[in-house]
Parts: sequence; structure tokens; C-alpha cells
Amino acid sequence: MALSRDTGRGLKRMPDVPVVEAMELYRFYHSGDEETFALRGVSLTVQPGQTVAVVGPSGSGKSTLLACLAGLDEPDGGYVNIQGRRLTRRSESARARLRSSTIGILMQSGNLLEHLSVEDNVRLRIRLAGATDDANRRVALLRSVGLDHRRTAYPARLSGGESARAGLAVALALTPALLLADEPTGEVDADTEKHIMVLLERRRKEGAATILATHSEALAAWADIVVRLVDGKIARD
Ligand code: ADP
Repeated sequence: MALSRDTGRGLKRMPDVPVVEAMELYRFYHSGDEETFALRGVSLTVQPGQTVAVVGPSGSGKSTLLACLAGLDEPDGGYVNIQGRRLTRRSESARARLRSSTIGILMQSGNLLEHLSVEDNVRLRIRLAGATDDANRRVALLRSVGLDHRRTAYPARLSGGESARAGLAVALALTPALLLADEPTGEVDADTEKHIMVLLERRRKEGAATILATHSEALAAWADIVVRLVDGKIARD
């Protein structure tokens, strides 16, 4: 059974479709005569409740893959379906709607608006999606990431680990069927890494899917599937 976000009340049952179906993704960049092949035929299917770790050296295409799966970048070839709905080759507004209703995104930086407190960042995410904004849910969410005591703090006042957890709270505010996280534990200490893994484990038990680009061996060892990218291709170990 696939799961999808309900307007602020957790995941709801959906027909039996993969959360992500990415088929033969290609992405090229040109600069003068120089051509970079960032993705070269990457296919990936992720079922509800699965966690995928995307690993590989710097420049192997991890961030480009995540951006294509989020609909933030358009692949030059191939397609992406999210819960059976086409994400690629859609208008920007159609992609934004599908992204907003199904995907939580945690980037390496820039997850929080600097002029809003932690709690208002979460509130904005909920309101922009047109979902029900419930104070109890917000508090529970911030407690789950260990930030209830920091909810009025502004991003500039947060430590690296607190910023990562606040970004995660924003990404998880609408209980998305899919979480895409680029190096979620890249800048955090071991305790925060454990904390993040507990949250991700809870998502896994709830049947939500997660795709992480990571250099963390602990996260890769814990994932259900490890996808190793080398020069924009999946390496078969
Ligand atoms: P990773 O996340 O594994 O470090 P990236 O997806 O960021 O890899 O990059 C894959 C390749 O694509 C690299 O060679 C990178 O330099 C190139 N690349 C990524 N984004 C751009 C861009 N906007 N313009 C040109 N080249 C890019």
C-alpha cells in the first residue's frame, strides 16, 4: 500500500503504486565546449516504507539526482513518477503542486527563512501548502526533533545540529510520502545523527519513503537499498 500526505493529519492510504519511479534519467550540463554528464541513465524504484541511501564520490551526480526527483531540476532524458503521477515535463506550477503535496525536501543549506523563527518556518510550510495549521501538531513536531525549547529562535542563533533538525521539521511538517534529504547528517555531531536516524526510522515504520544522499557509513548501513553513483551511473557492486 502506498501512502500519501493528508492535509495535516498524517499519511493516508493510496492505491498500490511505488512512491518513486525514476526511469533512465539523463542530465547534461554545457559550458562552452565542455560537457558534463551529471546523470547517465539512472533508474530507481522506491516502495512505501523503503529508505534509499545514494552514495558516491563528490561530483558523481547525487545532488543532481535528488533535484530531478524533487522536480527542482528537469532531466534531459527519462521521467520521474511520484505515487504514479508524472513529475517531469510538467509546468512549473504543476510540479510545485505535486512536490508540495507529496515531497519533503531537506537541502544541505537554505532550508530556513532567516527572518522567521523556527516555529514560523514550520507554520509557513504548512500554510503555503494550504494544509490545516494546528498548534498541537507544530509543538509535537518540534518536540520530535528535540527543538521545542528553541521554537522562538531565529536561524542565525541555531547551532549546526539545531539547524539541521529545524530543516528536518520543515521538511516533515506535512508528513510527506517521500523525504529527499541531501547530506542530512553532513554537518552534525554523532548525537544529532542518532536523533535524525530515530526520526527516519519512525517514518520507515509508518510506511513513508526516504531517499538520502549521504557520505555517512552509519546511514548507508541502515538504509534498505544503497545506490552507488559513479560518474552519473549506478555502479553494480
Ligand atoms: P554530487 O552531489 O555527487 O557531488 P552533483 O550532482 O553536484 O554531484 O554534480 C554532478 C556533476 O555535475 C559534477 O561534475 C558537477 O560539477 C556537475 N554540475 C552539477 N550542477 C551543475 C551546473 N548547474 N552546471 C554545470 N555543471 C554542474
